[in-house]
Amino acid sequence: MDAMENPYPWPEELRQKWLQELNSVHVNRYPDADATVLKERLRTVMTVPDHISIMLGNGSDELIQIIALALARSDRTYLAPEPGFVMYRLISQTVNAGYCGVQLNQDDFSLERDAMLSAIDELQPALIFIAYPNNPTGNLFDREIVLDVIKQAPGLVVIDEAYHAFAGASFMEYLDDFENLLIMRTLSKSGLAGLRLGYLLGKSAWLNELEKIRLPYNINSLSQKSAEFILSHFEVLGGQATDICRNRKVLFRQLAEIDGIKVWPSAANFILFRTLELDANRIFTELKTRGVLIKNLYGSHALLQNCLRVTVGTEKENTVFIDTLRQVMQSYH
Ligand code: PMP
Repeated sequence: MDAMENPYPWPEELRQKWLQELNSVHVNRYPDADATVLKERLRTVMTVPDHISIMLGNGSDELIQIIALALARSDRTYLAPEPGFVMYRLISQTVNAGYCGVQLNQDDFSLERDAMLSAIDELQPALIFIAYPNNPTGNLFDREIVLDVIKQAPGLVVIDEAYHAFAGASFMEYLDDFENLLIMRTLSKSGLAGLRLGYLLGKSAWLNELEKIRLPYNINSLSQKSAEFILSHFEVLGGQATDICRNRKVLFRQLAEIDGIKVWPSAANFILFRTLELDANRIFTELKTRGVLIKNLYGSHALLQNCLRVTVGTEKENTVFIDTLRQVMQSYH
C-alpha cells in the first residue's frame, strides 16, 4: 500500500478478451509512432476538445522529463510547491536546470499565495509544476490561487492531474484561457501502472515543440493495444475508482478515530497521516515487519515530521492495515 496503485484486478472475462486482442499485435513490426488510434480513444473517453492536442509518454514521468529537457538551460529555474512529487526536483536536477521548492502552509498544506507569487517574481521560473491533487499531501489547492500562479508565471505551468480519477476536479476547462498552461495525466492510478501511459494536453504550438524531443516509439505496441482495449471498457476502471473513493472515506474515518493520529482529507487514492506522539519510523518498520508496506515520509521534508502515507486498498487490505496499525500503536502504550 505504498505506490498508489489500483488494487483491483480486471474481471476474468475482460482479461480473456484483452489477451485475445494482444494476439493480433505483430511485435516484429515497429509500433505506430503517433499512436493515432490510442489518442483518438483517449480524446473520446476523456472528452478532450478537438482543438486541444494530445502527447503520450511512457508514464507521466517521461512527460515530466521531456518538458524539463525541452526548456532546460543552466540559467533557468523550475519551481514547484513542496512537499510535492519528488520527480519534479530530481528531473530538474538531471537536466541541469535550477530548482526551487516553495513551501506549502504548515497546517493544511495549502498553497501559500504570497510565497508562490513572490518566488515567481524573483526567480522568473521557465517551468512550474503543480500537482492537483498534490502528492504526498492529497489535497486540492485553492483554484483561485492556482489561477493567479498561471497568470503571474512568465513560463510554462504544468498542472499534474495524476489523481484526476479520484478528484472530481480539473483545470482542463482553462486550456483555452492561457497560452502557458498544459495539463498532464496518467492512466497509472486508474489501474494501468504496469503499462506506463501518461498523456499531456495543450495547445499544438507547445506540443509540436515537445514532440521533437519524444523518442518515436516510446509507447510500445502492446501498451498501445492494451490501452486502446481498456479505454473501450473504461466503465470498469471508472467503477473501480468509485469503489476506491468509497474505501477512502471509510479509511479516513477509521484513521481519524485512532488516538494519537492526525489525518488529512484526501482527493486522491492515498491518505497522509501523522503519528503525534510516536516515532513514525518505528511505526513504519513495525507495520512492515507484520506484512503491511506503506510509505514512510518522515525525513523527506520539514513539514512531514512523523508522516506516513497509505494507498487506499481493497476493503480487505484496508481492514488488515487498520487492524495492524491499531495493534502496533497499542504495543507502544
Ligand atoms: N505525478 C504525480 C503527482 C505522481 O504522484 C506520480 C506517481 N507517483 C506521477 C506523476 C507519475 O506517474 P506515472 O509515471 O506512473 O504516470
